[in-house]
Amino acid sequence: GATIGMLGGGQLGRMLALAGRAMGYRFATLDPTPDSPCGQVADKQITAAYHDVGAARELAAIADVITYEFENVDVEVTSLLMKESYVPQGSSLLYTTQHRLREKRAIEAAGVKVAPYAEIKSAEELREAAERFGVPCVLKTATGGYDGKGQWVLRSQGEVQEAYDTLSKAGTELVLEQFIHFDKEISVIAVRSPRGEVKTFPPAENEHVNNILHLSIVPARAPEQVLKEAQRMAERIAEELDVIGLIAVEMFLTKEGELFVNELAPRPHNSGHYTMEACQTSQFEQHVRAICNLPLGGTELLTPVVMANVLGEHVKPLLDWIVKPESEQVAAGVTAKVHLYGKSEAKRGRKMGHVNILAPTTEAACRWIDASNIWESKK
Ligand code: ATP
Ligand code: MG
Ligand code: MG
Repeated sequence: GATIGMLGGGQLGRMLALAGRAMGYRFATLDPTPDSPCGQVADKQITAAYHDVGAARELAAIADVITYEFENVDVEVTSLLMKESYVPQGSSLLYTTQHRLREKRAIEAAGVKVAPYAEIKSAEELREAAERFGVPCVLKTATGGYDGKGQWVLRSQGEVQEAYDTLSKAGTELVLEQFIHFDKEISVIAVRSPRGEVKTFPPAENEHVNNILHLSIVPARAPEQVLKEAQRMAERIAEELDVIGLIAVEMFLTKEGELFVNELAPRPHNSGHYTMEACQTSQFEQHVRAICNLPLGGTELLTPVVMANVLGEHVKPLLDWIVKPESEQVAAGVTAKVHLYGKSEAKRGRKMGHVNILAPTTEAACRWIDASNIWESKK
């Protein structure tokens, strides 16, 4: 079979490789950590830094197709890979999504709404923009942020100087966003193949704790026409940005039913893990189908589901709970599917796995979560 080369060896790569191997593909991953989550299930791991040109060449030599599982791939390495192998996702989507300003402009050009924003080049510009948007407003570094890092929520004009000084230390451009008083956060994963086929998965309703995804609830508890609109927006972005493979679209939904796109991720997304057992096709299989130019699979939801992330502090309570008879008696027809990523150090706050709780209703799945007490410590 063909070999798929992967930049990055984390859990997203691991789940991609597990799905792709079932389809007959071989996998090689490039990651700096020996025995990475993906390396454990791949045919081969090249252990080196992501920007190591020699290692990238080695990957290109054995891979028929190359993909990535994180978006901060070195642009130089990507162009080299494009010359020496086949990178169906290309590099321009990476270039766009690595930078919040470029990303927002691209989303707007696709005819989709984002929260009002301004490029910030000085404390003076920040003062002026914060006055225009009002407080609270959110200052973000244009590149490199994740899990809420590289952000400052300005609660008063008095914080302008300190916020500017702190975030500008990162040396990247800054962007100020109006604060959206959202009712819910939702996300839609879209997929597009080289032959131009586009599909979306059902929207997930996402709850965060300490800026880290805690739950994805599907179906999302929002009016049908709002969810349809969210899917149309994601489809439009996939088409207008010439996406190949997956693109995750994070959105804010207001009480009035208005949708704003927050940010994009051109790869499998944590909020799409529910698809593994709850949809006709998982996001991982779908990505493999897309980059290999196979027909896309159906995205229909087969059952209500709640995905709960398992962080370092949740591993032991989870393993203790699932073997208890009570865990099966909480609600009839509930099945908890446990996924662990093969990481050895269960550090606090580190993503170690997730559980997909399949149930007759999302309420029943939430009852299982509450009864388990696994996530008590974090709330
Ligand atoms: P991720 O881990 O999802 O990549 P990130 O560090 O890139 O996170 P964002 O997704 O931009 O950061 O923001 C993190 C969270 O902060 C959002 O999920 C949302 O809850 C809140 N947030 C960000 N921007 C805004 C905004 N303009 N208005 C209201 N809340 C916001
Ligand atoms: Mg982000
Ligand atoms: Mg985000």
